[in-house]
Amino acid sequence: LETLVLYCRAGFESDCALEVQTKAAELGIYGYCKTGEAYVCFVPANGRQDIERLLGQLHLDQLVFARQWYPVVVLAHLDRENRLGPVFEALAGWPRAGQLVVEYPDTNDGKALVGLGKSLSKPLLSKLQKQNRLTRKLRSDLPTLFVFLVAGDTLMLGWGCPDEINPHPMGIRRLKFPKEAPSRSTLKLEEAWHQFIPADQWDQRLAPGMKAVDLGAAPGGWTWQLVQRHMMVTAVDNGPMNAGLMDSGQVEHVREDGYAWQPSKGVEWMVCDIVDKPARTADMVIQWLLNGWCRQTIFNLKLPMKKRWDAVDLALSHIQSALDEAGLRYQMACKHLYHDREEVTVYIWRQS
Ligand code: SAM
Repeated sequence: LETLVLYCRAGFESDCALEVQTKAAELGIYGYCKTGEAYVCFVPANGRQDIERLLGQLHLDQLVFARQWYPVVVLAHLDRENRLGPVFEALAGWPRAGQLVVEYPDTNDGKALVGLGKSLSKPLLSKLQKQNRLTRKLRSDLPTLFVFLVAGDTLMLGWGCPDEINPHPMGIRRLKFPKEAPSRSTLKLEEAWHQFIPADQWDQRLAPGMKAVDLGAAPGGWTWQLVQRHMMVTAVDNGPMNAGLMDSGQVEHVREDGYAWQPSKGVEWMVCDIVDKPARTADMVIQWLLNGWCRQTIFNLKLPMKKRWDAVDLALSHIQSALDEAGLRYQMACKHLYHDREEVTVYIWRQS
């Protein structure tokens, strides 16, 4: 297992590669990347030893562009008549796994491999279970055995420990679009909450009655989520808000510039989905946090540019240095969510 595979959104491979290389190098781990479509392979100089160190010292949540990661062996040029022979050979000596997961890149070409995956997983499952190398009942406390199919004749066999990997299939948290919500953007905020706030803390950090400000709110997908949590929301946008949402009585619509508007009193939440330069959004967020106008914030950094990792790194470093200089205690995380497109989502929680 001398290669680390990382899944990402198609089109973001070079950002994902640059990020993992940069963060590994900060830990003294050097390697090169090969990119596929919607995945990246990181090959460090000292193979398995480096991968174990990287997985031990960096958590998947600390990577922005990667949805999933685990160490693999690559099996290429497989004979289409006997793909499983080399798979069983390669698996000899691997410890017992708690589940088998067969996946593909999140692309149209990947979808075309679903049938092949199904035809491979049945015999694999039954033989591994017979050999007692795979539990009969799913055990999420044991490592996962991955088969990542990237072409008809190429697959990767991977091994993921429960605390190191994303438990969701394909590294994607699928959410159902709520029909009553005014826009599909609503799923971005919902996914962000799942990503950044542990379920057992929703009652305190997303509590009923909290005050929230939604900058660039129209037509109201994010406001709708805040209203669902029984918050009182100030929605700042020159555009029209969804009428049904306004009927809730929990929303005040202010037609002003979100970058200039200031609350008269501090609120718990500020969220922002305005399409503008990352640097401008970063400066606005710094102002909100340093002035104590909000305690928690979720905002998008829009990334229409080519070098997205550089733009994200610059904006996050700028925010971090401003907050550190002011001596603030805070938690900060950033992720390219499944429901994000040319953007990433940032969460900051001010704790002092
Ligand atoms: N989050 C919203 C939802 O879930 O329905 C969608 C927001 S949409 C991507 C961006 C919004 O930002 C638009 O409604 C636009 O009018 C608003 N906007 C753009 N510049 C703004 C500014 N300077 N101040 C306030 N709103 C702004």
